[in-house]
Amino acid sequence: MLTSLLDGQADDCVLADGARIGIVGGGPAGSFFAYFVSRMAASTGLGLRVDLFEPRHFTHAGPAGCNHCGGVVSESLVQLLAAEGIVLPAGVVQRGIDTYVLHMDVGEVSIEAASLQKRIAAVYRGNGPREPPGAEVCGFDRFMIDLAASMGARIHRQAVSGIRWREGRPEIVTVDGKCSTYELVAVAVGVNSRSLESLARAAVPYAPPATMKTFICEFHLGREAVEQHLGSSMHVFLLDLPRLEFAALIPKGEFATLCMLGQDIDEALVAQFLSAPQVAGCFPGSVVPPPACHCFPRINVRAAVQPYADRIVWLGDSSACKLYKDGIGSAYKTAKSAATTAVFHGVAASDFDRRFRRECDTLRRDNSIARLIFAATKLIQKAKPLRHGVLRMVQREQGRPAQRRHMSNMLWDVFTGSAPYGDILLRSCHPEFPAQFAWNLAAGNATAALRAVHRRWHP
Ligand SMILES: Cc1cc2nc3c(=O)[nH]c(=O)nc-3n(C[C@H](O)[C@H](O)[C@H](O)COP(=O)(O)OP(=O)(O)OC[C@H]3O[C@@H](n4cnc5c(N)ncnc54)[C@H](O)[C@@H]3O)c2cc1C
Repeated sequence: MLTSLLDGQADDCVLADGARIGIVGGGPAGSFFAYFVSRMAASTGLGLRVDLFEPRHFTHAGPAGCNHCGGVVSESLVQLLAAEGIVLPAGVVQRGIDTYVLHMDVGEVSIEAASLQKRIAAVYRGNGPREPPGAEVCGFDRFMIDLAASMGARIHRQAVSGIRWREGRPEIVTVDGKCSTYELVAVAVGVNSRSLESLARAAVPYAPPATMKTFICEFHLGREAVEQHLGSSMHVFLLDLPRLEFAALIPKGEFATLCMLGQDIDEALVAQFLSAPQVAGCFPGSVVPPPACHCFPRINVRAAVQPYADRIVWLGDSSACKLYKDGIGSAYKTAKSAATTAVFHGVAASDFDRRFRRECDTLRRDNSIARLIFAATKLIQKAKPLRHGVLRMVQREQGRPAQRRHMSNMLWDVFTGSAPYGDILLRSCHPEFPAQFAWNLAAGNATAALRAVHRRWHP
């Protein structure tokens, strides 16, 4: 059955029974790939040996088990995973998010999910921050790597130091000097590993993705305070601060995770952001506590050049990723597409070029549209009159049926990463949208002007 699917591919670049696959990195992309390649091979009666190399245990709290992430699993991914039979256990989901609160200097507004299916999940990637929350935490990455192991993947708790070639086959070299040869190697080391540059040399056309520095930190507030002050809402900030693109505060169990994206984020910008009244107001007593831990990880902002060659493929952040959002969803998509290509078609560069590349190109094209959408968001951030219009429109929409909440639904999908950017742009072309925005822009600014006059005469 399998051979009929192999398009006349030379036997040499086809996975045969007993073939060995090596995976470097056990974040979402590596684990998804191990899971899918094992499952697909089993469904066709193909016996593979899958080795996954990942030095982290994901059982340690703090940096040792952490993969630097906001931990928002978009609703579209929750549904895709459920359709695959992968249901996130209650212990992994730290909180179900059903609303988000948009904070701007002109006011704040709470936006509800368009439907119950649109809930998103907040998870830890590792075992939570260093300060132990008391209860046992099971992170997403641990759940996924265990799932890969349950499909037969062998997990090696070791870092890979290099990839060499032996008689046309890739060879993985681990830090202890041991090496093994494979029919296919999948590289899923993300963009925060120093080894990405050296592993990139394994295949010449590949060039690693462009990245941007971000900021992430965890605040230990206690379960009650999280419930009382943040609830089941993600808090999104559109503040007019130089270099800041976007920031979100995500409630999780005993903690709240803060993520900031922007140009050259540094301590000064973080301090400026945390001192804004809209931010401090989210914390008990309007005082921002010192973070339990923080770091400045990098994020993929432009896809890698040709993330494949004969017998080697790059996945997740090391290849292509949705801009600013749903990186775990992109890891799922690239990993599943690469596994389908490898099992059903072959592992030559031409196989990845015909199939896997389509997934990367789809992400790349959608990211070009994303740049337009984020330029519009930037404009809102910079222009106060636009913020008045957005605020009024979203406030008015909350009483309407879900399909008529144009601005709210678009913002929901932009901030949660739940829909392709192309869909969001298309929805902005709905004939009601520009008319309603123009009206709310005029009315919102007139009301703000009247309030300002009133405040002047009645201080
Ligand atoms: C501040 C911030 C917030 C984010 N928030 C979200 C969010 O809320 N939701 C979302 O979906 N995405 C989010 N992302 C993006 C998301 O984190 C990534 O897209 C996702 O982690 C990519 O998965 P990956 O498996 O490709 O890489 P990674 O998650 O980086 O995993 C790479 C793995 O490879 C291992 N590794 C590295 N080098 C080696 C080596 N030499 N040998 C063996 N193993 C190695 C590492 O230990 C790691 O486990 C965020 C990113 C940032 C920076």
